[in-house]
Amino acid sequence: MRKIIISASIITFLFLSSCGPEKVECEECNVTGRVECKECNGDKEIDCKDCYGKGSKHCYDCSGTGREECNWCYGDGSVNCFDCSGSGNDGDDDCNKCNGSGKSTCIDCYGRGSKQCNTCSGYSKEDCETCNGSGKVECDVCSGKGDVECLKCNGDGYYLVD
Ligand SMILES: [Zn+2]
Ligand SMILES: [Zn+2]
Ligand SMILES: [Zn+2]
Ligand SMILES: [Zn+2]
Ligand SMILES: [Zn+2]
Ligand SMILES: [Zn+2]
Repeated sequence: MRKIIISASIITFLFLSSCGPEKVECEECNVTGRVECKECNGDKEIDCKDCYGKGSKHCYDCSGTGREECNWCYGDGSVNCFDCSGSGNDGDDDCNKCNGSGKSTCIDCYGRGSKQCNTCSGYSKEDCETCNGSGKVECDVCSGKGDVECLKCNGDGYYLVD
């Protein structure tokens, strides 16, 4: 009698396990539990949003021209002659220094009217601080791993079906 009961419970167990929830391989992630990160396509890094992936930003100080106006001659390239205070003559004669023009070349900008921008050293661009000029930053969606947990199997590689 006792033997029969045991056999019956084994049969019941087998019956239940074949009809209960079934563990199947997750095809979404090839049973690895991880899928490629869609944000970075598995590259582990994404374009820096601060510089749009360029690695550098337009210099604000010179509006990207690489030069800034000379603040000594106000961009003119010349200043009033020091010797004749801009009058052009020295008593009755033309001023020797400026040959009567009243102007002398601005020594600060060598007559160009503009100087190299200090901020960007004339490159008209500054390295992006966010990405150190590389144009790329670590993908925050996958924390730089390149893949994320598979949602279908919760990273298990398998999921249950009824
Ligand atoms: Zn999966
Ligand atoms: Zn990613
Ligand atoms: Zn600049
Ligand atoms: Zn002069
Ligand atoms: Zn100047
Ligand atoms: Zn950047």
